[in-house]
Amino acid sequence: MAQTIDIANPTRTQAILNEYGLRAKKKFGQNFLTDLNVLHNIVETAEITAEDYVIEIGPGIGALTEQLARSAKKVLAFEIDSQMVEVLADTLKPYDNVKVIENDVLKVDLAKVISEEFGDNAHVKIVANLPYYITTPILIQLLRSNINWDNIVVMMQREVADRLNAAVGTKSYGVLTLTIQYFAQATLAVKVPASSFNPSPNVDSAVVKLTPLKPTTVVENVGKLFGVIKGSFSHRRKSLWNNMLQTYGKDAGTKEQLTVALKSAQIDPAIRAERLNLEQFTQLYLALRDQNLTQ
Ligand code: SAM
Repeated sequence: MAQTIDIANPTRTQAILNEYGLRAKKKFGQNFLTDLNVLHNIVETAEITAEDYVIEIGPGIGALTEQLARSAKKVLAFEIDSQMVEVLADTLKPYDNVKVIENDVLKVDLAKVISEEFGDNAHVKIVANLPYYITTPILIQLLRSNINWDNIVVMMQREVADRLNAAVGTKSYGVLTLTIQYFAQATLAVKVPASSFNPSPNVDSAVVKLTPLKPTTVVENVGKLFGVIKGSFSHRRKSLWNNMLQTYGKDAGTKEQLTVALKSAQIDPAIRAERLNLEQFTQLYLALRDQNLTQ
């Protein structure tokens, strides 16, 4: 059998795009990885073994998928662009352990698909060169879903990577930082130059590894906790009190309930959300719940 040339090669990537008369689509955040070293680094960081079920988001023309297929037991990839799905039918032909699903990953019930494809309670590793325009919603969806994930290794914009471990009170600190803190530990695996992609993005990139973490204070309804956090950050420059009035209402009764909740959580109403850590938000949520304000 002829030696297969890796898809992640500048010449082959361009040849594949030319063959199908395609150009990278900005609207889908398409920047194809052409640097084999980066791909090997991603697969190593995710510690993919022949026992692993892997979920990939946005396989594109298959550069990363191919490397994953060579190391993993099975790869399930979600791609929104039907033209890419056509290309993948050819480029991934040599790999019988890959299944591509044409869909917007944000519209997929991942837990359901994983149990259908890999079995109930199957553990997965999630690997992706993420479409940058929806990095944050994808990360939040992955973390908030009930998937059993062993690690998540994803390429993203450096600026978003900086938000993951941002310190309280900094510009980068926000809902994403707090979501990461509740569910995971984030480490920067490698910085990736724009020259590793076709076309080159005009931002720097980084591969980040997330590993699961048990929150210090587990809450029963994580959706409601993050509802409180989101509401508190809705106008970053406003005080917590003003954001809360906007979320819960300005009538005297509500004001009284908010005052009681803030007092019991020992939080100054004049503070801004960016000054509160996860534990303080958790206490605030529990106090609001006790006032029946989070129902
Ligand atoms: N994995 C390929 C690589 O590394 O060369 C392509 C990565 S490219 C940065 C992002 C990919 O995600 C594109 O193939 C794009 O079409 C796909 N994509 C964009 N939005 C998506 C969505 N909502 N759901 C699934 N795939 C999406």
